[in-house]
Amino acid sequence: MKYRVLKRCNGLKVSEIALGCEGFIGKTAEEFRAMLDRALELGINFIDMYTPNPEFRDHLGAAIAKRREEVVLQGHICAVWENGQYLRTRDLEKVKASFEDQMQRLGTDYLDVGMIHYVDSMSDFEEVFGGKVIEYCKELKAAGKILAVGLSSHNPEVARKAVETGLIDVLMFSVNAAYDMQPPSEDCNDLWEPEKYKDGLEGMNPERKALYELCERENVAIDVMKAFGGGDMLNAELSPFGVAFNEYQCMEYCLTRPGTVAVMAGCHSIDEMEKLVSYYEAAAEEKDYSTVLAGMEKFKFQGNCMYCGHCAPCSVGINVADVNKYLNLALAQGEVPETVADHYRLLEHHASECIACRKCESNCPFAVGIVEKMKKAAEVFGY
Ligand code: SF4
Ligand code: SF4
Repeated sequence: MKYRVLKRCNGLKVSEIALGCEGFIGKTAEEFRAMLDRALELGINFIDMYTPNPEFRDHLGAAIAKRREEVVLQGHICAVWENGQYLRTRDLEKVKASFEDQMQRLGTDYLDVGMIHYVDSMSDFEEVFGGKVIEYCKELKAAGKILAVGLSSHNPEVARKAVETGLIDVLMFSVNAAYDMQPPSEDCNDLWEPEKYKDGLEGMNPERKALYELCERENVAIDVMKAFGGGDMLNAELSPFGVAFNEYQCMEYCLTRPGTVAVMAGCHSIDEMEKLVSYYEAAAEEKDYSTVLAGMEKFKFQGNCMYCGHCAPCSVGINVADVNKYLNLALAQGEVPETVADHYRLLEHHASECIACRKCESNCPFAVGIVEKMKKAAEVFGY
């Protein structure tokens, strides 16, 4: 397992492959514990708990009773349980009661991340950030009951505004190659509408790209939901692209977006968890999503670096994907932020070492003008 850092959360390390909670729902206490124990053995330490389902909370509390410090818990604020089902609310009394219920059933006195549940519309954003919910989150953080404030969203406009408040440490966001082509929408069902894909699409949506870059610059950690598009990305008949990705390609795509720290996967069994973790043993070709993206007729990603790494190895050892990522972060900001300058400095080889052999360009499926990019990076960073 590899780990990434929640930089605004005391440097807490989370596993790149993390668990959503849907696969745990309906399991007996014994089945639940077996899955959790195996997850921890596999190195998975990060768990999202969007559901306020009392049985889920009880089972998780029992499973972590003697090992609370081994898990990073991401709980949701504003998700409540009523009449046997989960609802989202901004009613502060209900929000508080559900949070306290969560702490009590989990048997813990803190959550690592307190995630404001599901803000997709501007009006809801105004309600949350102009009202009592965000004040409650600040209180919880000040009291040490949550270590970081998070927000979950499918809408890049809302997510950007939330990140720009400076109050959000973690963003749970829906990321996959298909969503990344779609413009912002307040209705996440729009993202999968066949109508939206029928005429073909070109390039990553600029608002989504800008959001990921903003998160990377501001050290806001993105944990990904919908990496597999609810499974549809894995099936050629259901995928809006008409081609299937495999699980490794979907994960690699998400983990190479700027700002991303983890992919939350809803595993329903130990076998499914083990399959996901086998990502680390998979050959590079099995993870390489660039060949799928570049092979599509109606959907084009030409000209922009997708950070896929397909151009490697460089003749002089430059990590072209990373240089391009840091260059794009600097260009988007109009200056070189200190953190980006530091990441660039730590690279083993720098853009100024490029000998313009163009070997990488012949390997790039997206026709990126890499030599020009290296020249630009050498100019922007100074070496
Ligand atoms: S330059 Fe091309 S091959 Fe290299 S990381 Fe970017 S998109 Fe991938
Ligand atoms: S053109 Fe530059 S970046 Fe590309 S392989 Fe040659 S030296 Fe490396």
